[in-house]
Amino acid sequence: MLLLGHIGLTTLASSLLYLSIIGGVIGVLLPDIIDKGLFVLGYAPCGKFIAHSIFFFPVAGAVSYIITRNKKFAVAVALGAFLHLLQDIHNDVPFLYPLKDYAFFETCDAVKISFSPYVIATEAIGGVLLIFIGVFHKQFESIRNAVWSRLKKIGIVRKW
Ligand SMILES: [Zn+2]
Repeated sequence: MLLLGHIGLTTLASSLLYLSIIGGVIGVLLPDIIDKGLFVLGYAPCGKFIAHSIFFFPVAGAVSYIITRNKKFAVAVALGAFLHLLQDIHNDVPFLYPLKDYAFFETCDAVKISFSPYVIATEAIGGVLLIFIGVFHKQFESIRNAVWSRLKKIGIVRKW
């Protein structure tokens, strides 16, 4: 998934959960910024490395909390970093690195962008979500609030 897909889907998830959208966007961008940065500097074999493992998102959340002392911001950063892994799942993701070594580290092309139907579809969905949430944010918030209060009424969720 590329930029629009990552940002759009994470903006949706963060705002549905009443978390910081900025935190979610920072979190979803971190794995690529860190790993592609490490690759460019020669410290990673691939554009998907340590920040694309499942051990990264709790660390990202904890560091965000230490820096900001803001729980909802830190949870949003962790959520964004976690969602990044799910959003990259169409390709190789080193989920268990460094516990497990990955063969694709030897062959991967770190900055190759392929415009597969998945990538094109998720970019389009991400863009539409951003436009919808940005332009119609009042309507979006009232739909979100109505869905949450309905879920609370029927007892599926407790107060957030
Ligand atoms: Zn990625």
